[in-house]
Amino acid sequence: MQAVKTIHCRKCKKPLDVPYWSGREFCDVHRPANPYKRRYTDEQVVEAMRRGGRNSNNGGFANNPQLAREAGRKGGMASRRGPKV
Ligand SMILES: [Zn+2]
Repeated sequence: MQAVKTIHCRKCKKPLDVPYWSGREFCDVHRPANPYKRRYTDEQVVEAMRRGGRNSNNGGFANNPQLAREAGRKGGMASRRGPKV
């Protein structure tokens, strides 16, 4: 008896050597390409992924010490704990 349920390629029924929770549906041959690549050029895909990884298009606080300073000030003002503690 198998401890882990195996899954099979939805096209060729070839058993996939991965556990069912991995989300795989196809073997290497039938695995669809990254769906984005059907609609966009490689450069656009790379750029979109890069943007997603950054989760921001301006770098946030890391690129803007002034913004971090301002945000810190606002947070400090809103705090009820006072300047000490
Ligand atoms: Zn297959």
